Order: sequence, then C-alpha cells, then structure tokens
Amino acid sequence: MSKYKHILLDLDETLLDFHASEKSCFIALMKSLEITNEQELYEFFSPINKSLWKLLERKLIDKPTLFQTRFSKLLDHAASKEYITNPSGIPSVMEVNNMYFKLMSQSGIPIEGAHDFLHRLQSVDGIDLSAITNGNTITAKGRFASSNLNSRIKRLYISDEVGFDKPDIRFFDYVMKDIGDSNPDNYLVVGDSLTSDIQGANNCGMPCCLFSRTGILPDGYELLRIDQTALDYESIYNIVTNA
Ligand SMILES: [Mg+2]
Repeated sequence: MSKYKHILLDLDETLLDFHASEKSCFIALMKSLEITNEQELYEFFSPINKSLWKLLERKLIDKPTLFQTRFSKLLDHAASKEYITNPSGIPSVMEVNNMYFKLMSQSGIPIEGAHDFLHRLQSVDGIDLSAITNGNTITAKGRFASSNLNSRIKRLYISDEVGFDKPDIRFFDYVMKDIGDSNPDNYLVVGDSLTSDIQGANNCGMPCCLFSRTGILPDGYELLRIDQTALDYESIYNIVTNA
C-alpha cells in the first residue's frame, strides 16, 4: 500500500525520450524537404523550439505562434545558408509544421527502463497511473500508442483536450474531477519540469517529485515546493512504495 492513490506521470523526459524523437523526426523532415546539413540545422532548431515552449508555458505566446515561428526561423536560416536544394518544393510553414507533427505522432521512444518501472508500479496495491502532458492531441496520442506505454497507464490527459496547459490549476482540477478524487493529498505528480509539473503541483496542492536524470536542479528550484527528487526510476518506485 502507498499513501498515494493516483500517480500523475509527465510524458516527455519523464517516460518518453523526447529529444530522441525530436531529433530523428527533424532529420527525417529535412530529408523529405530536400534540405541539407540536417544535423547542423537541428542544433539551430532545438534551442529555438525549447525557448518557444517556455514562452508558451508563461502564456507569452500561443500555440499557432509557436508552430509558425519555429519553422519560419528554421527555413529562413536554411535559405540564408543555401541548404535548401529545391526551394519550389517547400510547402507553407504551417504545412511543414504539420509534416513534423505527423512524423512525431509515430515516434514514441520510451526512456530506457520506463516499461519495467511502470510494470512494477502497476502492481503496487491501491494505486492507479495516469499520464499528464502539454501538447497536441494527435501527436501525444500517437506517441503514447507507439511507445506501448498505453498498455501500462490507465488514462492520458493532454492539455489540448483538457483546454488548459500545465501548470494551470484548471488542468489539475480537470484531472481530479475526471479521476473522481478531489483530495490533492492522494496524488503524486512526477515530472522533469519545474515550470509545468512542479509548479502545477504547487498550484493545486498535490505532493510532487522532480525527476532529474542528471541530478542538476533547474534554475528557480528554490522558489517552489519540491517534496521529493529522484535521479532514476528505482528512486520514484521507492518514494511511492515507502510512502
Ligand atoms: Mg517533461
């Protein structure tokens, strides 16, 4: 038995290797658009994409702006470097974004050990497992299914379907209502992001565990309540079963 009844697990960089998917899909996208130097362009694209997602978390931009901006910057950069071998074959920026979504939706790569961890967690008496993610519905569902994690996790909450992104308290209110347990103490939020997972748990009063595979605490950690930190899946399992 655990004092936690519901474990809310973030997807990207908690159960799924987002960076592995991002990189392989980006490279496949560049190849299909006949754009060269895809490795170098990935190093350009990845930090831009990451900083735009941070702006979205802080509600400074919306999703269409994020999707538009990341690929318009990329295509401008590729054009300035003359890496685009067939300019007439490049569709609109939003179409490029949709091609990327399609590739990403088929690319759910679990972090090593994730399946075993969930398998063990599943067998702990009296707990149920849900996944919580900020993202696009088609991509999130596709990645979840292609990773086979859906066989181990009961529910998947996607911000686009919920109508609010983590760390908005309304995202967590929706989850509690859907699960049918309004006591935040019965939950444990596990995630790698201070700004979405830990901030969200702080907002709604749920206990939380920061998953940091590097052991490095992100900037701003001292401003938040972090109940537990875990370096690996074994530590999360112990936190749940010893509670
Ligand atoms: Mg994450």
